[in-house]
Amino acid sequence: MKQYDVIVVGAGNGGLVAAADVAKEGYKTLLLEKHNLPGGCATSFVRGRFEFETALHELCDESTSEDLESSKEIFTRLGARVDLVHEDTLFRVISKDKDGYDLVLHTGERFFDDMEKAVPGCRDKVKKLFDLIEQIDAAQRYVNTGKMNPLTLMNKYGDFMRLGSHSIEEVEIALGIPEKARSILNTYWCYLGVPTDDLNAVHYISLLTAYAKVKPSMPHNRSHELSLSLVKAFQGFGGEIRYNSEVTEFLFDEKGAAIGVVANGEKLYAKKIISNVIPANVINRSDAKKLPKRMKKLANARKIGMTFITIYLGLDRSMEELGINDYSVFIFSDNDSRVQFDKRKEMGIYVVNCLNKVLPESSPKGTSTLFFTIPFMPGDLPEDLNETTYKDYKNEVAKRYILDYEKTLGVSIMPHIEEIVVATPVTFARYLGTPEGAIYGYASETWDNIIGRVVMEPMEYTVKNMKFCGGHHTRGDGYPSGYITGDKAGKATVKELKEEK
Ligand SMILES: Cc1cc2nc3c(=O)[nH]c(=O)nc-3n(C[C@H](O)[C@H](O)[C@H](O)COP(=O)(O)OP(=O)(O)OC[C@H]3O[C@@H](n4cnc5c(N)ncnc54)[C@H](O)[C@@H]3O)c2cc1C
Repeated sequence: MKQYDVIVVGAGNGGLVAAADVAKEGYKTLLLEKHNLPGGCATSFVRGRFEFETALHELCDESTSEDLESSKEIFTRLGARVDLVHEDTLFRVISKDKDGYDLVLHTGERFFDDMEKAVPGCRDKVKKLFDLIEQIDAAQRYVNTGKMNPLTLMNKYGDFMRLGSHSIEEVEIALGIPEKARSILNTYWCYLGVPTDDLNAVHYISLLTAYAKVKPSMPHNRSHELSLSLVKAFQGFGGEIRYNSEVTEFLFDEKGAAIGVVANGEKLYAKKIISNVIPANVINRSDAKKLPKRMKKLANARKIGMTFITIYLGLDRSMEELGINDYSVFIFSDNDSRVQFDKRKEMGIYVVNCLNKVLPESSPKGTSTLFFTIPFMPGDLPEDLNETTYKDYKNEVAKRYILDYEKTLGVSIMPHIEEIVVATPVTFARYLGTPEGAIYGYASETWDNIIGRVVMEPMEYTVKNMKFCGGHHTRGDGYPSGYITGDKAGKATVKELKEEK
């Protein structure tokens, strides 16, 4: 019988950090991954002479406060080395609304200059919004002590508690931020998958200030470099990784405590299990009678979050020859994020990235790549798609968006396409195994937002000897969320193992 201290299921970035944390402490750790390579979303793929970034638009590697968890701190502690390039420009945003705009926003103090230039008189109000991060960080430090008292939270961190129950739109209005400034500030909403009238203020302020204050970054060798550096760290600590090993069943004892998994027909046992797999899929692979009612109810009640259609283009001209000047361009049909969301299938919102702007050598000399991201929700794909119409549908979507990009930016792309790959929610569902191809896990809406999830976590995940981590977990989607939840799951597992010893 195979017995480990810890089995981690899924080598996404959350699973990799959790596995490395546990192995670092000398525990016998097995990491099981269904694919033949690590990383999950955080990977790359090759077509012809191009290596495409699959997922990363921009990494937020540092926190706004040095004493809070951050990707950088976690990587450093694990000795996982990654070569990052930092960006001074945040994004270009083009709104085609009748009162639209075309602006470039930068990091640091320039962010406020850019905002003031776009909407004269808004600087101080925008600064007030940014200042809220100090209270958010202080409350986070307090929550991290593990001795949280709701009364202390209310008395000492009142702004944090108030923010916790409001959308970012409500907070911006309360601060008197003008409509156009709100529209520009809210550009990043699609990275969290929820329009700003329903997006929790704490969540959005944390993301916006982290990007604007700390600068976004990109690894030199696509996000696969992030994944490989974590694999190296894990193996360096003596961890065992098995690829092509899909977990088809989670095993529990009579009392419902996790005791192991089944992969490739083999039963593997461990004292602790960490799942980088979304709870819905864990439930589907378990004897449901053994699992707590609350966990099952929660997985059913939660709304599956956003997914994307992505278009990856390899072009036979350099970005300079094509007249492309920006790394990230957000293109909106309307200034309002709710309208952008409602019109998401009719080009209400999409993002186009040209990696060569940040990393000129990311494609062969004289070429460039573009990465289109189109937000989609479960149920957005036409219901009557079949094997033939699926291909036509993908081609039609790609053509429509490429033509719109050409028209909006005044560039010619179509004649220069050497490679094209279109991924849809079907692709993500197949690759990641998530329901509806969700890449952001469960939607982080007002009723089920990041604050509630973090505070309620001890009541929500109560399977003995089992922890969760990843983009589907308490902190919502994204690389930093994956790392931080992986780190928390890893550390909590180590703590339990030490105590039980
Ligand atoms: C197109 C796209 C764009 C994105 N853009 C950004 C961005 O710009 N910024 C950002 O911060 N985040 C972005 N994300 C999200 C980000 O990539 C993830 O949140 C992050 O990588 C954390 O992933 P994770 O830990 O949840 O694991 P995942 O990447 O979901 O990986 C889970 C792993 O588990 C494996 N697995 C699943 N089921 C099983 C099983 N039964 N047995 C064994 N293994 C299994 C899967 O194969 C996979 O390797 C994007 C994602 C996508 C797809």
